Amino acid sequence: MYNSFLIKYGEIGLKGDNRHVFEDALAKRIRRMLGQLSGEFNVVKTRGRIYVYCGGDWDYDETIGTLKKIFGIVGICPVVIYEAGGIEDLRRDMVDYVAREHPGCTASFKVKARRVDKEFPLTSMEISAELGEAILEANPGMHVDVHEPDILFDVELREKVFIYSKTIPGPGGMPVGTAGKAMLLLSGGIDSPVAGYMVSKRGVIMDAVYFHAPPYTSERAKQKVVDLARELAQYTGPIQLHIVNFTDIQLYIYDQCPHSELTIIMRRYMMRIAERIAKENGDMGLVTGESIGQVASQTMQSLLTTNAVCTLPVYRPLIGFDKNDIVAISKEIGTFETSILPFEDCCTIFVAKHPVTKPLLHIIERSETKLREKIDEMVETAISTAEVMIVR
Ligand code: ATP
Ligand code: MG
Repeated sequence: MYNSFLIKYGEIGLKGDNRHVFEDALAKRIRRMLGQLSGEFNVVKTRGRIYVYCGGDWDYDETIGTLKKIFGIVGICPVVIYEAGGIEDLRRDMVDYVAREHPGCTASFKVKARRVDKEFPLTSMEISAELGEAILEANPGMHVDVHEPDILFDVELREKVFIYSKTIPGPGGMPVGTAGKAMLLLSGGIDSPVAGYMVSKRGVIMDAVYFHAPPYTSERAKQKVVDLARELAQYTGPIQLHIVNFTDIQLYIYDQCPHSELTIIMRRYMMRIAERIAKENGDMGLVTGESIGQVASQTMQSLLTTNAVCTLPVYRPLIGFDKNDIVAISKEIGTFETSILPFEDCCTIFVAKHPVTKPLLHIIERSETKLREKIDEMVETAISTAEVMIVR
């Protein structure tokens, strides 16, 4: 019975002169995402609103499911459209709407009518009063509450009559593509996909880099990361994923450096390589899933030591989150089930029994001098042999 959706967007309405840029980006994104479904959708932008008209072989749940993944959408209102007519038609349609949408209802309500078509002979106030009266007559259990109604009936008189009363929450944020590009360090864990989601939610396009260590890490561990990128891409749009072979570098560090410093030195090389690839791709920042104190490599001292090799800003959107909070988001966005598949990560293979938890930068830098002979060439090789794929 629904034949359209009103798309509510919050923050992007506040952008002053740039407002249309954000609205256009949102409308474009909605068109692209719905274009992949089987129905026919007409996405129309009018006066600070976006409407999606649905036709053909469209499916309600699939359409809602898709809209709920589009950043910038705050709410999705399913709209029933009636033919325009006189006030008697309008009253009849209003009663029909309530009977279908809120059968047996005893809630309080308010009607908010708006005339976009100013030709209509009654004022908005008068229409609201008429429709309120019609609802009361047909539904004796309901009552009017203009201050805190349980149900707000929005009625818009346009070339047709639009009635809606329900709002399905969207993800919020800003449309992807309105805030530049960043490089996500994507592991197979729970945290980094959530970190990518959160930064992309602010309108940022995501590139990603994954470090693997064959044969110590398997093809399935790599596939898991590709799957995570695909799940993330439902929100962010296509992700350019760089898969870097990190084996030789890890083995070299393992041979040359104190084992307690392995993880931290390895993380520094990950950041260096990620930054190189990021800069080549025009990314304006790195994104990681780190959170203070979660593991030895994420103490304040470790973060300081890792961060010291980067010149791009490193965005760590989970920095103040407990693991529980991160797990909750990952379940909500649908990456959790993939993240907990038990395939080894390259970090876990070379971990020391007693990693340093308070590395000192000058000591780590001194250890890294032991890598002088071959490391630059290895880094070049790792970058030049990286496999690049577009994940959608
Ligand atoms: P995650 O759940 O994201 O794997 P984690 O709790 O396992 O995080 P670490 O292993 O210390 O934490 O990794 C910290 C961050 O470094 C990750 O969130 C991710 O951004 C990045 N990272 C770790 N391992 C890799 C990898 N193999 N490839 C790419 N990025 C990685
Ligand atoms: Mg991990």
